[in-house]
Amino acid sequence: EEVVRMIAAGEVIESPASVVKELVENSIDAAASSIRVDVKGGGLAHISVVDDGVGIAADELPVAIQRHATSKLPEGRLDAITTLGFRGEALPSIAAVSELTITSSAKGENVGRSITVRDGKVVADHAAPASGGTVVVARHLFRNVPARLAMVDKPQVEVGHISQVLRRLYLSSPHIALRLYSEGKMLLSTSGQGDRLAALIELYGGELEEHILDLGIRELRYGRYRLILSDSAVTRPSRHHINIVVNNRWAQVKALLASMEQAYRGILPKGRHPILLLQLDLDPSRLDVNVHPAKQEVKLLDEREVIESVCEQLRSALGKNPS
Ligand code: ADP
Ligand code: MG
Repeated sequence: EEVVRMIAAGEVIESPASVVKELVENSIDAAASSIRVDVKGGGLAHISVVDDGVGIAADELPVAIQRHATSKLPEGRLDAITTLGFRGEALPSIAAVSELTITSSAKGENVGRSITVRDGKVVADHAAPASGGTVVVARHLFRNVPARLAMVDKPQVEVGHISQVLRRLYLSSPHIALRLYSEGKMLLSTSGQGDRLAALIELYGGELEEHILDLGIRELRYGRYRLILSDSAVTRPSRHHINIVVNNRWAQVKALLASMEQAYRGILPKGRHPILLLQLDLDPSRLDVNVHPAKQEVKLLDEREVIESVCEQLRSALGKNPS
C-alpha cells in the first residue's frame, strides 16, 4: 500500500517545481489575488506557498489531504471543468513524499486549523489563528524516495524550473500578484494588473515593448483566440518562450506547437523562435485536459481548424514585418 501510494505520487510530483505548480494552482483556484512562494535548498529543504484565497474550513481540512478528495468537480462532469485542479491528487501526493503542513481558515471564520502529515500519517493537528487564506509548507521533499531524490538537479537549476512554472502561471492568470523568494532573496514579483499583453512585457522586459505584435481576437467555430508575439527583431534560440494558454491553463498542445514552428521556419532566422502567447478560449466540451496528471497536455477536438487559422495569421504577421 505504501509503495503504491509513492508510485502514484511520483506521477504528479516529480520535482520541486511540480510541488510549486500544484500548490500555486490550488491558490489560484481558491480565488487568491496575491501568492507568495518561498523555497530553500532548491525546494528540497523547504517550499511554502501563502495565499489570500477563500481558505479551507476547519472540518474540511482533513478531507482535503485525502486521495481523490476534490471540491472542484462540477457534479462529476469532466467536460465542465473551469478550475486548474480537479483530481484531488496533489495534496495527498505531496504529503506522500514530504512533510506537509497546511494551515487555513475559511473566509469569515475567526479561528483556523493546522494539520501536519508525515509519511502519510497525521503527526500534528491543532487550532490556529485565522490568517485570511492558506499557508502550505512542504519540507524534506523526497527524503523517503531516494530514486526521485537522485533525479533532482542542483538547487540553482531547480529554482530556475520553479521560476519558469510561475512565469507560465502568470501568463495564464495575469490577475495574480506572484512573488518568488529563494533563500530569502526575491527572484520574481508580478503586478497582477490583469492583462496578458502587459504580463508578457512584464516578464520579458522593456526589450519586448517596442517589438510586440498584438494580432487581436479571431473567432473560431467553438471559441476564439488571441495571438501576441514578438516581431522578427526579438527572437530566442529555444521554443521555451512559446506559450499556449487554453481556457486559462498553460498547456502543451503538441501538434499546434509543431505546426506553428513550421509556419515561422524560413521567415525567422534558422533556429530562432519568437516570444509568443497564444490565448485560446474554447467551449470546454471541445477539449480534453485529462490526458496526463502532470504533463500539461491538452487535446483539442478542433485542432485542424485552430492550426490552420493560427498558422495563417502567424505567417502573414511575420512575413509583413521586415527584419
Ligand atoms: P484538486 O485541486 O484537484 O481539487 P488537491 O489535492 O490539489 O486537489 O486539493 C484538494 C482540495 O483542497 C481542493 O479541492 C480544495 O478544496 C482544497 N484546497 C487545497 N489548497 C487550497 C487553497 N490554497 N485554498 C483553498 N482550498 C484549497
Ligand atoms: Mg490541486
